[in-house]
Parts: sequence; structure tokens; C-alpha cells
Amino acid sequence: MSEVLELSATVPAQRRPRRRLVVVGNGMAGIRAVEELLERGGSEQFDITVFGDEPYGNYNRIMLSHVLSGEETEEGIFLNSLPWYAENGIDLRAGVRVDRVDRFAKVVHDADGGETPYDLLLIATGSTPFFPAMEGLHREDGSVLAGVFGFRTLDDARALLAAARTHRRAVVIGGGLLGLEAAHGLATHGLQVDLLHSPQHLMNQQLGPEAGRVLRRRIEELGVRVHTGVRSRGVRGTDRVTGVELPDGSVLDADFVVVAAGIRPNTDIALRSGLEVQRGIVVDDRMQCSAGEEGEEGTAEDVYAVGECVQHRGETYGLVAPLWDQAGVLADHLTGARPDAAYHGSRTSTKLKVAGVDLVAMGLPGPERDDDEFVVFSEPHRGIYLNVVIRAGRLVGATLLGDVRKTAFLTQAFDQGLPLPEERMSLLFDLGSPDEATSVAELSDDVQVCNCNGVTKGKIVDAVAGGCTSVNAVMAKTKAGKGCGSCKTLVEQVTEWAAGGNLTVDESANWYVPGIPMGKPELMAAIRERRLRSVSAVFRELAPGGVEDAKSKMGLTSLLRMMWPEGLDQDERDGRFINDRVHANIQRDGTFSVVPQMKGGVTTAEQLRKIADVADKYDVGMIKVTGGQRVDLLGIRKEDLPKVWEDLGMPSGYAYGKSFRTVKTCVGTDFCRFGLGDSTQLGIDLETRFQGVETPAKLKLGVVGCPRNCAEAYVKDIGVVAIGAGAWEVYVGGAAGATVRKGDLLATVGSPEEVIALTGRFIQFYREWGNWLERTYEFVPRLGLDRVKKVLLEDSDGLVAGLDARMQATVENYRDPWLEGREPVTEGQFRPSLPLVDLPLVPGRPAGAPGGTTVALPLPTARPDSLEVPR
Ligand SMILES: Cc1cc2nc3c(=O)[nH]c(=O)nc-3n(C[C@H](O)[C@H](O)[C@H](O)COP(=O)(O)OP(=O)(O)OC[C@H]3O[C@@H](n4cnc5c(N)ncnc54)[C@H](O)[C@@H]3O)c2cc1C
Ligand code: SF4
Ligand code: SF4
Repeated sequence: MSEVLELSATVPAQRRPRRRLVVVGNGMAGIRAVEELLERGGSEQFDITVFGDEPYGNYNRIMLSHVLSGEETEEGIFLNSLPWYAENGIDLRAGVRVDRVDRFAKVVHDADGGETPYDLLLIATGSTPFFPAMEGLHREDGSVLAGVFGFRTLDDARALLAAARTHRRAVVIGGGLLGLEAAHGLATHGLQVDLLHSPQHLMNQQLGPEAGRVLRRRIEELGVRVHTGVRSRGVRGTDRVTGVELPDGSVLDADFVVVAAGIRPNTDIALRSGLEVQRGIVVDDRMQCSAGEEGEEGTAEDVYAVGECVQHRGETYGLVAPLWDQAGVLADHLTGARPDAAYHGSRTSTKLKVAGVDLVAMGLPGPERDDDEFVVFSEPHRGIYLNVVIRAGRLVGATLLGDVRKTAFLTQAFDQGLPLPEERMSLLFDLGSPDEATSVAELSDDVQVCNCNGVTKGKIVDAVAGGCTSVNAVMAKTKAGKGCGSCKTLVEQVTEWAAGGNLTVDESANWYVPGIPMGKPELMAAIRERRLRSVSAVFRELAPGGVEDAKSKMGLTSLLRMMWPEGLDQDERDGRFINDRVHANIQRDGTFSVVPQMKGGVTTAEQLRKIADVADKYDVGMIKVTGGQRVDLLGIRKEDLPKVWEDLGMPSGYAYGKSFRTVKTCVGTDFCRFGLGDSTQLGIDLETRFQGVETPAKLKLGVVGCPRNCAEAYVKDIGVVAIGAGAWEVYVGGAAGATVRKGDLLATVGSPEEVIALTGRFIQFYREWGNWLERTYEFVPRLGLDRVKKVLLEDSDGLVAGLDARMQATVENYRDPWLEGREPVTEGQFRPSLPLVDLPLVPGRPAGAPGGTTVALPLPTARPDSLEVPR
């Protein structure tokens, strides 16, 4: 009988002596094992100490790729923060490296000189990046040459981000999953990236040659230069890396190099502790280690290992799915919850996390035996390649590139060995594969639905039973679908099935506004059909019970103004934000900021003189050059707004609205030595055409005269870059606010006219299909760049002519809103109603200080250290 069972028969649970469990490795496997133990009541049985040589809590390593590409923040990837350890009574030694283990004295020795005794030891040290033999890679002292990075840890990701900010050229060595994600991540920062891969095609371990070729084209389209069949001979550079040398002696210049050529199980401690190590630390089906010292035999008493560091039945793994399985078995065994639990190995599938490239691969890349069935569909010019490999009626391999709609069913079939439909093509296309409910019902409870976060079907079912009645609630409770996101469809299907039709689908999440239960296309159709031309008419006809909803008014006003550019029946001002009612930006103290238009950031001496006069006359609190290349007059009272506009005599600069705002430009060909295109003129033309156009959320543009990107066009909602020979690249979906995202390349066009036409088409598409308050950096990824391209460039849905015509009508109906100052729309439009909210007044900048009022004062005579600096 095991020790646990013996004790439990005689000692009450709360007084049972706890065993000391020491975990070496604070990574995904180690902490998953601890979580599984806690779930099985492990806190009653163990005093847990965790050593991790990274100075953090536990984070989702998978998501480092998203951190590098800017799609995720550091904070967003933490699985367990430091307080979690304390709350669960776990003694975390973060930043402390374990040096060796004395298995006979049962003591762990750490690098700080500490000795920690254990009753049970769990090794979960993961793996380390493999640096292949290359001339010049190491310095004399054995350290790696400066500027050469691995990509494994949060610190690596930080170092890469820092390098990306200050350098221009990177070489990535390795065209597997990690190398591709690293290369794409760096390319999103505008770097020139060369990717070297010694096999003949990318991801050769998971893909066949044809799929590899299609993938290569997609990766190249993202701006990465791919070199396959090329082995790097060595790195150049004495103090730091300057390039990578190829076998023919040529050199790829590089400011830094990322080596992503594979991983090696981290077995140092195991070796030093006399455990059996082959490729990894050898474990049995209970995750128990073997003794490796001469004279010792069989399992190593009380020593276990999980994760990438282990070798089980000859296999090592480099993905998370196996470690979830291993952690569960270990916890069952150690707690005595299921003493017969055994790990039998894992079947793994791979998903590439490169925005815009959908790729799922599982099992065999192609047939191996004469009687293997192999079904292939390939459409290389659209970036689509699909295949399945079937052996004895079971799915043993699948590749989905460019169209991953069948992932859910294929993953289940692969994991479960489900019977396959006779008509094999239906595995790749919707021709009648088993309906969702049937296939979901067939899954056993321990099937992993979300690999990134190790969530099983059973956990989702439990969450539903525990009261989560919507997909979002299940996702929040279990973390399912919150990793790479590729399992979301399956999470939805399982949730729906578990709720047995009682799912409170967050339908409202799909409504355009909360007060009217309709999605945007349906709502637009109803408005058009009934010719509803005012917000109140929409409520009257379409809201349940005709009830008006204040929260819905802004969105409806914007939608109606988009749909009826020639004007609404009633201009209901309560349907607008205050900014939109008075056409200025409300500030902290209830005053407003006024920004006159300065197309493309270009102004004249006359305009500047007027601005200066107005600033004096209305006692402006501060004059500030904005990030959008205009002049902001801050601190203007509401009742003064019409007079300010009158005196300025310049049109509105739209610094306030959910609308097209500004086009930032660089100096382009007029003055810049590098200019390849007249960015300033194009910026002015774009702003002239699209000024004031209302959009679901604010819209900012940028145009630059060359890829040096002085006006930051790559991070604008729409960014335009001259690339020479009259050509321009048009990027969409960029952002540089609270979210930072490089735009996606929509198209390269041959003239400014084409830029203007494509920009208008994209804006109108966004106006008609974007959710209320959804920025383009959310809109483009939601639809998928491919879809946006198909609609706008290939006219896949026959929308283009209509989009162009409706944008033209909008442009023709433009009227400068500041003209309202002469005839207020409502009596109180500009009546002082301040303070709107009780806010402290922002102090004006002191006279004489930058931005302050221009009161003539003698220069200060006080000593500088006695001056008070306004904060
Ligand atoms: C950028 C990136 C992207 C990835 N993408 C995916 C993906 O999309 N899908 C997927 O399934 N997998 C992915 N992986 C792999 C996945 O992250 C690993 O499979 C998983 O993290 C392995 O967990 P582990 O606990 O075994 O190792 P780790 O998570 O590496 O944890 C091991 C920990 O032990 C610590 N340690 C080692 N030695 C000592 C010591 N002597 N003393 C103290 N602490 C020590 C290490 O510092 C580390 O923190 C990715 C990995 C990376 C790096
Ligand atoms: S982006 Fe290019 S053209 Fe424009 S100012 Fe910078 S270097 Fe000159
Ligand atoms: S960055 Fe933040 S604080 Fe600064 S102006 Fe924008 S919203 Fe305000």
C-alpha cells in the first residue's frame, strides 16, 4: 500500500504530516503540475517549494511570439502572478537557480548556497535553445558573440524588442515554427529580415514540400526574405555580430541574429544527480525518473520529471499539449487520486502563430506506405494547401494552410481516431461531415480542447454546469481559447453542446448597439428598407417596445449619417457625444481644445498669425503642436467656440470625432534627399477628399515618401509608403496608441490616384462592416487580411462599385461643421453649461512659460533653483 493511503487510514486529514515537494522549474509544466496537485487537494498533502531561475511568476511561453509581434503585452501573458503563489502557500524562489540535487541526502542545492530538503522532487527544467556549430559564434571565453540571441524566455523577447527598436537588419537562423514566428515578429517592427533554413522547405518537420512552398510564398508576402536549402557557415564580427556567412562565401549583413535552430532538453541537473538521461530525462508512465548511476537500478525513488526536459518511451516533445497530460497523470499519482493513472504519450498538432497565415499541421505530412490514402487540395496562388493522410480508415495526418475551417473536426478525428466519412473530400470541405453536435458529443471528457491553456472538454462542461451560460463566460472562467485562439470554434461548440440549447449566447455582443437586437448588416437592411432617417425613428420601429436607449444613440447617429450622407430628417443632438455637438474636444476642466485644419501638416505664415491672434484674444491656456501635425488651442470656453472659429476662418481639423481625422506626412520629395514619392501632396489630397468622413472609431492616416517612415505611416489606421518607381504600398489596421500594431500590407499600387481610390474603398468598407467603436486594428484582424483583400481587390462579394459610389456621395455632401457656429443648430449648442462635471480647473501655463499666455513680463531675475516648475 502506498504511504499516502496508509497514512490516510489512521490520521485525520488536517493533521496528516505534509510531505515536502520541491519543484525545480517554474515554467509551464512545473506549475501546471502544481495546479493539478492543488486541484486534487494537494495543499493538504504537500508543502510546496518552487525554484525558477527566471525572476518572475509563471507565464505562457507560447505567447512570447505575440509579445514580439506586438499583438500581446507582457502583462497579458502571465498565468500566475507572484501573489498566487503566496495565496496557495507555495514558497516561490524566483530568480534562484538550482545547481544540483543530492538524491541520497534528499537535498536541493541552489546557486545562492541554500539547501532545501525534500520528500518528493519534481524536475521541470524545460529545454534550452540549440546553437548549431558555426564559425565565429562563440568567443574565446565560450560566451556567445554579442548580438546573437536565442528566443526562449521573456528576457529574450525583451532583448529582441530592444534590438528591433535600434537596428534595421536581422537574420533568423531556422525556418521551423519558432524561427518563422521570430522572423514575422521582427518584420512587424519594420526590420529587414532574412530567414535561413538548411532543409529545402520551411517547417520540414511538419509539412511536405508543396505545403512548404505555399507557406514560403505567404511568409515572403509578409516581408521576410526566405533562403531555404542554405546552411549558415558562420557568423561575422569581432565585438558583435555584423553578418552571417553563407557556404559560397557571401555574407548577409545583420545587426543581430536570432538562432531558432531547435531545442535541447535541459538535463543538466538530472545528469549531475545521477538520473538516467538519454536525449531527455528518462521517465516511466508515472513520470518517475530512472536511476542512472552504476550500481543503482530501476526507478529513482521519489524523483519525477515532466515537460520538455523528459523523454518518455523514446519521445521528447516541444509543445505544450503533452505536458498537460503529463502533469495530470503525475498529480493523480502523487495525490493518490488515481493511483493507476498512466501516461501513454501524446499526439501533437502544430499551429503557426503568424498573423495572416493560417496553418495547422498534425501527424504525417504525407503518405508513407503504399496503401495510405492521401487527399490533397492545392491552390498556391491563393495560398491554400490542404491535405489529409488516412491509414486503415483512421486519420494519421492533416495539413491545413490558408483555410483552417476544418480544424476542429480534424483535430478530434486525429486525437480520438474517430471514424471518418466515406467521402474523404468532406474532411477538407463542408460536404457533409458529421454535424457539430454529434462530433462534440463523441469526445471524451479528458480531450484537450484548448492546447495553449490545457483545457479539457470536461472542464468546459464543468464550467457550464457551474453556471457559465455563455461562451465568453466559459472562456473567462477556464482560460480556454485565450492562447493562440485557434480552438475558439471548438470551445464554442463544446459550450453550446454542454448547455444543451440553454446557452445564453452573448447575442448582444453581436448587436451593433445595445438597445436594438440586430447585427450591423441586419440593422442597415432594416433602416434602408423602412427608410428610417432619424435616431428616434429607428428606436420607434426597431427597438423592443420602441424604447429609446441612451447608450445606443451615438452609434445610431453615426450609422445613419454614414447611410444617408445627404442628411437626416432630424438632427437629434442628444445622439452625439459632446465633442460632436460642439465640434471641439472637451478637456479635463470642461473647457475645449480647438484644432484648425492643417492638411498634411502644412501651414502658412498667415494661418499661424491668425492662430496666434486668436490665442491672445481668447486667453488660450496652452498652444500645443499635436502628434497629428497641427496646432491645438487648449482651454477655450464653450461659449467662445463660434467666435473662435469665426476669427480663425479656417476649417475644422477633426481632432475630436469618431471620424477621419488627419493625415500625417513627411516632407517627401520636396525637400528630403531620400524621398521616392510626393508624400506631402498625397497627404493633402487624401485629407481634402476624406475630411470629416464619419467612421466607427477615429481614423488616422500617414503618408511617407520612403520606407524610412518619418511620419510613422506603418502604425496608422491607413499608412501609405512610397517605394520608388511611382509605386506606393497601402497598409491598413496599424495603431500606435494604447495598442501598438504594424499595419498589414493591403496592396502595392502604381499611382497616387490608385492610393486615393483604394483608401476610399477601404474606409467605406470599414464604415459599413466595422462595429461601433471598433478601431481598424481590431477590424482588420477580425475579418482577416485575406478577406479584406478579396473584397477590396478581387471584388469577391461584388461590393466594390457600391462602396466607391457611397464614398463619393459622402464626399460630395461634405460641409464644414464649424459653419454651425454662425447658426447654432440648437439654442443651447454653445451656451455655457459648465462645469459639466465637477472637475478641477486645469491651471493655465504660467505667463512666459512654454505654451503659456503671452503676457509681457521682464525676464525672471530669480535664481533658477527658486523657480517653481509647473507639473
Ligand atoms: C516563442 C515560443 C513559442 C512557442 N509556441 C508554442 C506553441 O504555439 N504551441 C506549443 O504547444 N508550444 C509552443 N512553445 C513551446 C512551449 O512553450 C513549451 O513546450 C513549454 O513551455 C514547455 O514547458 P516546460 O515547463 O517543460 O519548460 P519551460 O516553460 O521552458 O519551463 C522551464 C523552466 O525551468 C527553469 N529552469 C531550468 N533550469 C533551472 C534550474 N536549474 N533552476 C531553476 N529553474 C530552472 C527555466 O528557466 C524555465 O523557466 C513555444 C515556445 C517558445 C519559446
Ligand atoms: S520618410 Fe523618407 S522621404 Fe519621408 S522624410 Fe523620411 S527619409 Fe525623407
Ligand atoms: S496619451 Fe493619454 S493622456 Fe495623453 S492625450 Fe492621449 S489619452 Fe490623454
